[in-house]
Amino acid sequence: MSTDLSGQLGSAFGSFFSSAIVQLILDSIVFYLFIVWLAAAFWAFRDMHDRTENPVMPYVAAAFILVPTPFFFLLGVIVYRVIRPAERLGEVYERNLAEEALLAEVEAVRTCRGCDRRVQEEWILCPWCRTRLNRVCPNCERLVGLDWTLCAWCGKDFERPATVDRAIAQSAPGASTADVAGQASPGRPAGGTISNRKPAIGG
Ligand SMILES: [Zn+2]
Ligand SMILES: [Zn+2]
Repeated sequence: MSTDLSGQLGSAFGSFFSSAIVQLILDSIVFYLFIVWLAAAFWAFRDMHDRTENPVMPYVAAAFILVPTPFFFLLGVIVYRVIRPAERLGEVYERNLAEEALLAEVEAVRTCRGCDRRVQEEWILCPWCRTRLNRVCPNCERLVGLDWTLCAWCGKDFERPATVDRAIAQSAPGASTADVAGQASPGRPAGGTISNRKPAIGG
């Protein structure tokens, strides 16, 4: 009885696997695996190409998928995904750009030299420690940097004292005294008059 059953089952399996339709399905599965295997190798090649500038590594990655054959290449894909470089080159480039932008932003924030607190571009004095941050041009009354040698807005020369201005005005007969008065601090006429008298005493 049992031998009959096993014999029947065996012949049934034999006819099942020999039938043309089943054979076609099995062939299709193998063909599909073959295509996926090649596609996976191509994917690994492209993927490695995006992650390294080394020209050999993409071929190594493709070989890594091809060597395990169409039946075991999924293991190669899994191992490749674990050991491949974590970042794409584009991502590395973007991260570097973002870091640079952040650094530039940090550098652009102005701080007080005296107390390191954040101050604004237009402030003349630090409101906390009274450190001088900017000065006002005596000629055009716009803000100028402490280290500027002349006013970028009106051209007033800060290095040259008012006495030199006066000496030049005196040596040049064409220059009017109104120009000299304009160059001296307009807000302080008394101080300007005193400093203008000094060269006469010195020279
Ligand atoms: Zn300060
Ligand atoms: Zn000026």
